[in-house]
This record gives sequence, structure tokens and C-alpha cells, in this order.
Amino acid sequence: PVVPYIEVVHDRGAIEIQRGCSRGCRFCQAGIIYRPVRERSQPEVVQAIGEIIANCGYSEVSLVSLSTSDYPHIDELVASLSHRYHNLALSLPSLYIDSFSVELMDSLPSHKKTGLTFAPEAGSERLRRIINKNISEEELLKTAAAAFDRGWTGLKLYFMLGLPAETMDDIEGIISLVDEVRALCRRAKGRTPQIRITLATFVPKPHTPFQWVAQESEQGLSAKHELLKQGLRRKGISYPGKTLKSACLRQHCHEEIGD
Ligand code: SF4
Repeated sequence: PVVPYIEVVHDRGAIEIQRGCSRGCRFCQAGIIYRPVRERSQPEVVQAIGEIIANCGYSEVSLVSLSTSDYPHIDELVASLSHRYHNLALSLPSLYIDSFSVELMDSLPSHKKTGLTFAPEAGSERLRRIINKNISEEELLKTAAAAFDRGWTGLKLYFMLGLPAETMDDIEGIISLVDEVRALCRRAKGRTPQIRITLATFVPKPHTPFQWVAQESEQGLSAKHELLKQGLRRKGISYPGKTLKSACLRQHCHEEIGD
């Protein structure tokens, strides 16, 4: 068994329950190159986790997949793992934005619940349709409301900047969406939620429908960052600082190695 002898960042076991993703987001390379979608059977996952616990001594295991909530009967798998391994903490990364994901996280034993992370990617429905992340604003807010109803007081939200056909209105859309989520929690819980914003900058990837789209200039991105920074300056919202420089560096690296 592979067991690290130093402290590592993700210090837990990991089992890939499914490879590939059928969502088809147009910026996403993994969604294209790992096709077709295929999953491990439930008995195989249960057995593999038993071996991880026995051989590596982990008390936390991550059910890894590009879109974990799309694994068929994931709720049954989680229930059977919780039933069989009482002291096991499960981590469920990459959840789709819907109330089912909230229910799924809520089904984990309370002391093992982690934060909720969702990725709307863009601030307006128009832009989400362009990138094929077809989630309506209503669905997004319903999911946030379900999370607050079930006791969460914070969310982590991922967005991308510099997407094809993005305008300043879409950036304003991010600000009003985050504002709306924040107001929802204040109404439901009577307190300000902790909302962590994570930003990635769009970098065109080979083999995706957007592979030939130019990356936005540093100047354009900088203006969008500035707008967001001002608009999201609110109590309870944390906004990242270093995204722009690292994205530009990443793009230069892609160009240098010619992928
Ligand atoms: S849901 Fe996630 S993994 Fe699937 S295509 Fe979209 S970005 Fe890629």
C-alpha cells in the first residue's frame, strides 16, 4: 500500500468511482479527453475502500470523479459505506449544482460534513448557455436555499473570468448572484454567511470546442477583476488576490510547451 511518510495536503484515501463526465462544458478538457463515461460497480468500490482502510489505515476516503453526483445511485453507495464503515469520513468532491447534491452531503454523519462547493462558472444564464453549463439562476438559488435550510452557513463558489463572449454585464451578474445568495442566507438564518469566491481565468484548452478562442488580454482581465473586487467588497465574502498573474503565467507555459 502507498502511505505517505510526510504530512501531505490531501491526507486521505482516494478511490476513483467514475471516469469521464457527460455534462459537456465547452471549456473543459477533462470532460472531452476522458470520454466515454464509465463507472466502477458499487461492490467494487465498497471492497476497494475496505482494502484502503485495512492496508493504509485511513479514516477518510474521497470518492473521486469529475462529477460525483452523476455516479448512478450515489446516494445508495454513500448510505452503504456509512453503514458498513461507521468511523469513515467520506469526502465528495465535484458536485453538480442541485438540491440532490445538498441532500447527499446532508446524508453524511454530521461530524463528517465538510463545506459545500459549487461551480456556476459564469454570472449570467446567457454566458452559462454559451459554455454549456446549463444551470438557471432559479436552480442555483434553490440549491443555495436548500443548503442554508439544512444548516450550512457558508458556501464556496467557483467562477471563471475571460470566457468567450463575456462582457462586463456578465461580471455584474456574478456580483448580483453572490449578493442574492448572501441575502438568502441572511433571510433564512438571520446572519451573514461566509462565501468564498474562487476565480479561475479561462485558458483555451486543446481538443475543446473553445480551443481556437484567444485568451483575453491581461488588461481586459484586470478591469474585470477590479470590477469584481469592488462589487464583492462585503462582509462575509472572501475574494482571492493572485488569480490574474498565475493565469497569465499558465497561458505562457501552454504556449511555450506548445500544447
Ligand atoms: S461538469 Fe465539470 S468535469 Fe463535467 S464537463 Fe463540466 S467542468 Fe468538465
